Amino acid sequence: YEPKGPKPIKKLSIDVINSIAAAEIIHRPSNAIKELIENSLDAGSTSIKISIKEGGLKLIQITDNGHGINKSDLPLLCTRYATSKLAKFSDLQSLTTYGFRGEALASISYCSHVEVITKTKEDGCGWKALYADGELVASKTESSPEPKPAAANDGTVISAEDLFYNMPLRKRAFKSASDEYNRILDVIQKYAVHNPHVAWSCKKAQSSLPDISTSAASSSRANISLLYTAALAADLLEVPETVLQPADKLCATVRGWISNANTNWTRRGGWLFFINNRLVDSTKLKKALESLYTAFLAKGSSPWIYLSLEIDPAKVDVNVHPTKSDVHFLSEDEIIEGIVGAVQQALSGANTSRTFSVQS
Ligand code: ADP
Ligand code: MG
Repeated sequence: YEPKGPKPIKKLSIDVINSIAAAEIIHRPSNAIKELIENSLDAGSTSIKISIKEGGLKLIQITDNGHGINKSDLPLLCTRYATSKLAKFSDLQSLTTYGFRGEALASISYCSHVEVITKTKEDGCGWKALYADGELVASKTESSPEPKPAAANDGTVISAEDLFYNMPLRKRAFKSASDEYNRILDVIQKYAVHNPHVAWSCKKAQSSLPDISTSAASSSRANISLLYTAALAADLLEVPETVLQPADKLCATVRGWISNANTNWTRRGGWLFFINNRLVDSTKLKKALESLYTAFLAKGSSPWIYLSLEIDPAKVDVNVHPTKSDVHFLSEDEIIEGIVGAVQQALSGANTSRTFSVQS
């Protein structure tokens, strides 16, 4: 062993930086799906169709009927930090879109082959573009990377092929395509409960039968029945829209649907929590709610909880983590307390009526 002197410090190339970021943001196919769904919702889509090969590792394709992308924006589409949703840092305080960093499509283009076909209402025809490592590239049969005219409906079709083709270690970590597919279904189901006025579909590319199919005339409750179980939907208690107190300090409301104290939900995936329409995790809130239910629930079953929290955007800090699942908010403890109170009230209201119906 020979002690060596320090090696010289060098700046990483932009491609290495972007590849590292891509691997951080897109851990697995279901992360890519979440980003693509949020983009389609941001584009005002009322129909979102998803097609999957090999758990998303071979192909993720999402077709929406949103406002589309202007042809002139296609060269920048997959560039890191290029976005139509944020201009100034202070815009974060009034953000109403899911996206804002301009990192998702860039990341996806650094770890898969991306094809985009898009058409705005004003366009006479659609445009097709291919991307690699953030940039437009030519197809095998063409010499120019310029977008080509293509037949298309209004909206956008984004295909990501061969996810992690250039990251062999990451790719090898995925043992089961069906496990990845189930994670994809889990994400879509949750968005479908929260956005019942979008027609959702998801299928395996080789299959003619969709695994998820909802209509744009549906409701959260109907989608819960369809996508989870009818038994669960029959047991649901509504958490009516509740203003959390003190109202002028918290500026927050909560609403949702929850399982009752007798529901026997033994599967996973029963935690649907949205803050300002974004699916997030809040371990703290989840724990607080679970302990509310432990007094009632049979061993081995857990609560099923869908809650939508709306807070003044100035009070949420979304700029925390690239995957944005970990969201922090001001007055977190008071807000959690308020939510627990609203859920408790829904549960106790149900208990009273059951006691009442037994007595009468
Ligand atoms: P962000 O959503 O943070 O802006 P993305 O990388 O996800 O970053 O998307 C970059 C930009 O591409 C968006 O700001 C939007 O203008 C455009 N875009 C992406 N997907 C769609 C879509 N399905 N329909 C319309 N525009 C889209
Ligand atoms: Mg986005």
